[in-house]
Amino acid sequence: MVKHKIATIGSHSALQILKGAKDEGFETICVCLKGKEKPYKMFPVADKIIMMNSYDEFFEVEKQLIKENAVIIPHASFIAYIGPDKVEKLQVPYFGNKKILNWESNRTMERQWLLKAGLKMPHIFNTPDEIDRPVIVKFHGAGGGAGYFLAKHKRDFAKKIKLHPGEEDYVIQEYILGVPCYIHYFYSPITKELGVMSFDKRYESNVDSLGRVSARDQIALPKIDPSYVIVGNLPLVVRESLLPKIIEMGENTVKESQNIAPPGLFGPFCLECVITPDQEIYCFEISARIVAGTNPFTNGSPYTWLKYDVPMSTGRRIASEIKLAIKEDKTDLIFY
Ligand code: AMP
Ligand code: AMP
Repeated sequence: MVKHKIATIGSHSALQILKGAKDEGFETICVCLKGKEKPYKMFPVADKIIMMNSYDEFFEVEKQLIKENAVIIPHASFIAYIGPDKVEKLQVPYFGNKKILNWESNRTMERQWLLKAGLKMPHIFNTPDEIDRPVIVKFHGAGGGAGYFLAKHKRDFAKKIKLHPGEEDYVIQEYILGVPCYIHYFYSPITKELGVMSFDKRYESNVDSLGRVSARDQIALPKIDPSYVIVGNLPLVVRESLLPKIIEMGENTVKESQNIAPPGLFGPFCLECVITPDQEIYCFEISARIVAGTNPFTNGSPYTWLKYDVPMSTGRRIASEIKLAIKEDKTDLIFY
């Protein structure tokens, strides 16, 4: 039997992924950009560290990963640095359905998928003229939401968009007033079971600090534009009566993915939501892989503790799925 190793790129959720893999008995490899290796030396989660001078070298490294029988676990930094087009061409076994990447990275396709799955989503305004309520304007590829702005109405939009000359790739989305809630799921294509793994809320700079500056002082200060640059993630447990809806949302998302991109979405995924005071759950985005919001749960979450006998992080759950696939000779269901 082939002895697989588990590999990922050093950033995002690599510590959790590699620790989970070791807990399930795999040897691990961290592929790391020169200068970023300190955490992977400080925390003993990687049996081997492969260094690169730039991400362009990844295709050279890939040959070595193939020789080592490694399986790549993708995360957001992996996709961002390697690029979705190149990821599709990878030869090294990859945990996940690559066909989903298109549906996730194209806003129109993503919306079509989630609406068909019956999820409630913020309204999109196709032209500024249609704006009839508060909106959030998101620039595509804005590093961590740095240039996003809120607009109260059409006139406010017209004034603020002038501060972004030449920028045409943006989406005007209804602003949903509620609390952010990121739902982490895991779907097994082997047992066909969906699990709710955990929840997080993000800690974003500077939007999470504006409440610390009184309205009076905000007005007095020269200019404060909110930004949504991610700095970290905070664990969350939701009101239990929200769970039936949350489970149904995950089930329907998986079911619809099987229609649009067979064999569908599997492994970890996240619905990024805002929940309103009437307990309406609006989903504004999906991540079809592990999200860094699972990082507070390296030692398991309150939900995984209800189901598993060991501290089960999402990283470890990935490794246990790979182990099961190897044992049952079903790796064709999970490697692409
Ligand atoms: P990094 O490797 O931290 O430079 O991040 C690369 C990409 O992953 C960026 O697009 C980030 O927005 C995303 N990312 C990294 N960490 C997180 C996090 N904790 N939560 C959400 N997204 C993240
Ligand atoms: P994103 O870059 O799409 O992940 O969003 C960055 C931040 O904007 C997160 O804090 C979200 O909670 C918030 N956000 C995104 N879309 C909306 C929306 N339609 N209404 C309210 N908040 C939103």
